Amino acid sequence: ENNMFFIRIFMILLLSCLTVKINLCFSSIPYSLKSLTLDGHFNFDEVHHAARDFGNRYHFLPLAVLHPKSVSDIGTTIKHIWDMGCHSELTVAARGHGHSLQGQAQVHRGVVINMESLQGPKMQVYIGNFPYVDVSGGELWINILHESLKYGLAPKSWTDYLHLTVGGTLSNAGISGQAFRHGPQISNVHQLEVVTGKGEIVNCTEKQNSDLFHSVLGGLGQFGIITRARISLEPAPDMVKWIRVLYSDFNTFARDQERLISAENTFDYIEGFAIVNRTGLLNNWRSSFNPQDPVQASQFESGGKTLFCLELAKHIRSDETDLVNQEVENSLSLLNYIPSTLFISEVSYVQFLDRVHVSEIKLRSKGLWEVPHPWLNLLIPKSKIHDFAEGVFGNIITETSNGPILIYPLNKSKWDNRTSVVIPGEDIFYLVAFLSSAVPSSKGKDGLEHILTQNKRILDYCETANLGVKQYLPHYTTQEEWKTHFGPQWEVFVQRKSTYDPLAILAPGQRIFQKAI
Ligand code: FAD
Repeated sequence: ENNMFFIRIFMILLLSCLTVKINLCFSSIPYSLKSLTLDGHFNFDEVHHAARDFGNRYHFLPLAVLHPKSVSDIGTTIKHIWDMGCHSELTVAARGHGHSLQGQAQVHRGVVINMESLQGPKMQVYIGNFPYVDVSGGELWINILHESLKYGLAPKSWTDYLHLTVGGTLSNAGISGQAFRHGPQISNVHQLEVVTGKGEIVNCTEKQNSDLFHSVLGGLGQFGIITRARISLEPAPDMVKWIRVLYSDFNTFARDQERLISAENTFDYIEGFAIVNRTGLLNNWRSSFNPQDPVQASQFESGGKTLFCLELAKHIRSDETDLVNQEVENSLSLLNYIPSTLFISEVSYVQFLDRVHVSEIKLRSKGLWEVPHPWLNLLIPKSKIHDFAEGVFGNIITETSNGPILIYPLNKSKWDNRTSVVIPGEDIFYLVAFLSSAVPSSKGKDGLEHILTQNKRILDYCETANLGVKQYLPHYTTQEEWKTHFGPQWEVFVQRKSTYDPLAILAPGQRIFQKAI
């Protein structure tokens, strides 16, 4: 009994010591971060914002938010955490505009770096035969558009929505309707400045430190923080001819899309979307699109069927209007859309590129922007897209889509296989994006649970039918799933991690690697 008494006392003392040690360890972290000499500052109190993202489903509270003013602030902070080694559980997430969907830019009890605070050298446009712009990794694409337009230039490849940061989209790929011609945004970068997981500040290009350059592009934030990027530019158009036509048959729609992305001199932007079971079609179209010739089109009713809308744009320079009109007419004459459904509009380049922002303002005013967004983005090989459409639009999404469903093909030849992004193996593959919004606390068909179940049914179908689908903006919770996602690229990905971020300090919200402590 005496022995038991002493063992108990010993255990209690041991536990108290451990608790004190752990508490000391945690409480000393803010002090050790506070001791760093920085141009910017840490905030330990106002951290709640960094526990939110566009997806609005995951909320991990960080310990601190760094508001860097210089690249060296980021280098110093990461180097400090690197020097603590395995004795600290601190990890770091760069936060661009926080438009991730599942906590990818969040970190539990770690440091979030607010990339938009990064000031660095001012955005600088270089004109000449091969124009480019040097920008901060925390710069928003909308700001790059406005700045480069002052020189009559603009980036070549976009996302559909421009209020995202350069570092955020380059960590994924950056895909939109220009990618069939120019490749994704990661194919249009000449140079990067990166802070690695060891706190080193490294410049890299296709030739200099090329492994780091390619690792970081599409690298899900795993290998370094992009602090600057050199983006390729082209002469910007004055106006854009913006066109939509409808199809009732998926095969005809897909055939026309594939024909357009394979031909020269057709359109500058090619996308498409599915419209599930809607009548009174025009009322439901995105408000930012104002067709000029709706007389016939407004009488068109879908009769509750799923329709497919091909969305095209052609750049117009003021001295070439007649030529462009002729080219558009020629290209359209080769297509097999429903003749009465040709909608044409002419808008400025900014209006066209910033089109989703118009919807954002509208949705925000109704409190419908900051709702849960259970999005699902898939890359599907061309040879399986018909099976996919049949299975998904025939059986799974039949009543309502809870948001836009984008479908458009991409040319693999425009993607660089040295980058970290994972795409299907075929020459042409489709991006299919289910951009659902859930009505908060609804238990019905527009509620989060229903949409998640539907997403799972889509993924299960892809798996069972062996469609060779890869997720874009992927999210997995186990390393096994990540291994499957990367397939033969997994070994390289792991090796790159051990070279550039061996302690797994960076972007833990992707849930690919865990810091060893
Ligand atoms: P964040 O969400 O802040 O970060 C994303 C990931 O990148 C995180 O892991 C983060 O740690 C890491 N990261 C952030 N900054 C850096 C950096 N400087 N260096 C290294 N890592 C960094 N994508 C498309 O491809 N095409 C589209 O058309 C498109 N449309 C979209 C429309 C909307 C309305 C939304 C919300 C998203 C859209 N996306 C699209 C997805 C978008 O590209 C990604 O969600 C992107 O990550 C968001 O950028 P962000 O600046 O908000 O990044």
